[in-house]
Amino acid sequence: MRDEAKTASPPALDIDDTAGAPGLITIDLDAVAANYRHLRDRVAPSECAAVIKADAYGLGMAKIGPVLWREGCRTFYVATIAEGRALRQLLPKATIYAFDGLMPGTADLFAELDIRPVLNSIEEIREWAAYCGKIGTPLPAGIHIDSGMNRLGLPEAELDAVAEDLSLLDAFTLSLVMSHLACSDVPKHPKNEAQRTRFDALRRRLPAAPASLSNSGGVMLGEAYHFDQVRPGIAIYGGQPAPDADHRFANVLTLESRILQVRTSPAGETIGYGATRHIDAPRRIATVAIGYADGISWVLSAGDGKSPLNAYLGPHPAPLMGRVSMDLITLDVTGIPEEYASRGALVQIIGPRVPLETIADYAQTVHYEILTNLCRRAPRRYVGGDA
Ligand SMILES: *Cc1c(COP(=O)(O)O)cnc(C)c1O
Repeated sequence: MRDEAKTASPPALDIDDTAGAPGLITIDLDAVAANYRHLRDRVAPSECAAVIKADAYGLGMAKIGPVLWREGCRTFYVATIAEGRALRQLLPKATIYAFDGLMPGTADLFAELDIRPVLNSIEEIREWAAYCGKIGTPLPAGIHIDSGMNRLGLPEAELDAVAEDLSLLDAFTLSLVMSHLACSDVPKHPKNEAQRTRFDALRRRLPAAPASLSNSGGVMLGEAYHFDQVRPGIAIYGGQPAPDADHRFANVLTLESRILQVRTSPAGETIGYGATRHIDAPRRIATVAIGYADGISWVLSAGDGKSPLNAYLGPHPAPLMGRVSMDLITLDVTGIPEEYASRGALVQIIGPRVPLETIADYAQTVHYEILTNLCRRAPRRYVGGDA
């Protein structure tokens, strides 16, 4: 188990890469491992795969892939063939699927890298079958059935066409039949059950193969949604799959930044670009070295009358004031003890005190986007997991 204190106060800074660095990203690999174990135990005896696309949701596939492998994860999903290639170098023995499927003319690349395409259309099925026929090896691939998302995968009519001539599948090994839930973050949504029944009926038109329906939210919907394998992503990375889930996944990411300057501004002044925030009494203002170029959305800007996000100075909440700039934000630190509100002190922007869901709400986005937009200029530090 990982303890809160460790995440709340990270070890001393490594001066080499953090001297003068405004932001600091800490990624807790023990929390990643604990989250994976929880999911794995919850779905056993179904298999728990891991979705590691978009550089492990922005947190770094190179560190996270091996941690998941050590925890017993053997099947990984990426979006693109390029991500698959990077993962293959890290995990030579992993089973890797690419959601984007087969781009025209890429079959030999999949074969060479030992990556399995998730075939999304009858055209892709034909192309993979033709390639496998040509090389005389029944390479594995998955088939994605659209059960109601209307995004990727075989619509019912295409599935029927395949089912009418199953010899189309003879040339390769069908190693997975999958579909994807549209509303698993809303457990009571009737679409969940509708997709589940539809998927279960549609998959039976194909030869028997391991079936997979659920992302993180689907895992929490219960055993009926687990089939042979589940494919969580966000929960592994510490995002809550649904607001009222019965388990809180461990915090993985902590984003901190440093105070550059603290001042007292008198009543009648305005703060920042656009003069959107007026102060009617003297306030202590801390300017912090992080902004929208670091993934802190401009939408978090807090002009007059807007309920602001709180950052944390130690245990003390400090509301954002005025606009988010490219490299700076300003916080109201009035009344916060100087040991926390001083030049060079660290401020928690995301972490145990500011969960991903909270900042996503204020930024009017999903917590997935908070992760994938994370700054590239802040040094990253991995803790735990023998990092
Ligand atoms: C991204 C993705 C997942 C993982 O979803 P989470 O909500 O992050 O658990 C699973 N399946 C498919 C098809 C995906 O695109």
